[in-house]
Amino acid sequence: MVKVGAEREVRFDRSLRYQRQADYNIYDYELVPWHFEAGERKAYQNLNLSIFVDDECNADCRFCVAQLRYEHRKQLYQKEHIREDQRYLARLREVLEAIRPLNPSVSITGGEPTISPRLLPIIRMVDELGFRKRTITTNGSGLLRVTEGKTIATHLMERGFDHLNISRVCVDEEKNREIMRYGADDSYCSNEDIRQIAKAAGKGNMRIRMSCILLKPAVHNAAGIKEYVDFYRQYGVDNFIFRQLMDYDHKAVNLEKIAYCDKNKVDLNEVWEEMERDPEITPYMNLLGYYYYVELYDYHGCRIAGESADLEQQYREKSRHRDVVYEMVFHTNGVLSGSWIPTEEILMDVK
Ligand code: SF4
Repeated sequence: MVKVGAEREVRFDRSLRYQRQADYNIYDYELVPWHFEAGERKAYQNLNLSIFVDDECNADCRFCVAQLRYEHRKQLYQKEHIREDQRYLARLREVLEAIRPLNPSVSITGGEPTISPRLLPIIRMVDELGFRKRTITTNGSGLLRVTEGKTIATHLMERGFDHLNISRVCVDEEKNREIMRYGADDSYCSNEDIRQIAKAAGKGNMRIRMSCILLKPAVHNAAGIKEYVDFYRQYGVDNFIFRQLMDYDHKAVNLEKIAYCDKNKVDLNEVWEEMERDPEITPYMNLLGYYYYVELYDYHGCRIAGESADLEQQYREKSRHRDVVYEMVFHTNGVLSGSWIPTEEILMDVK
């Protein structure tokens, strides 16, 4: 049994794997009444704020689901942006100062945040305002870029970032390049780069988590997971997440990437069943989120998470509790909303 926060205790319960959100009840979690600019809401106590730095990415992953959330809602993935960095940063400060008393955790995301000139001022701002639990999700490519005399990885460490999520689909360089389709070779994040980043992170308190989308031509079973973990644990990485491609409404999407996802999607239930039979892997906890489900395993001292998510479920759950804020997203157009779609659930609009 594992303690989550001050009051909740969680244990591994296999039945959850098959019941999923049938068991989910937001009122099992503490909700905090909160006055947002848009009116009164109940905020999920362990709320996270995602800061969208930019849409631009130097990779073009065959499975990239960044577009999916929009297509899923029959919206075009062409969003409005605040183009000038200073205006974007001024608006971000306004929003961060307003929601700081809610004490959310913060995740920086994109596109690829490490290629944006906005990143450094953002991480300074997050640190200055004293947000708890700070995470960045990246494909790793800009982490060794030197700016103002230090690598981005060092800046993140010095600014108190706790977690660095690095996305990579497999250990093999050639296959990884083929699936993640980086634009130019100099923007690629190699295993040697990850080794250097892990070495630097080992000197501070920032924890690396390797994040891998399960795909039939790459990691797709327990043996593949062990190979992936064994490789990166040589570098001192002990935290891993393996994700099943998201479920979504097929009627709303029609893209080359969707065909790739359909063809190469791996069923995580089958992988979990395989992992449970492996004497080297021990399940120790599972968690139900409002549209995602996570199982946690131990493998030679490494924490391995497996996660599946369902966008349809996300909208069903939200439509049942319209006054609840489950998460917050700061969008590139300066809007703070409770959704990954900037026009939905607006909490602070741009004037
Ligand atoms: S690195 Fe992330 S944002 Fe960039 S293309 Fe791949 S999945 Fe999409």
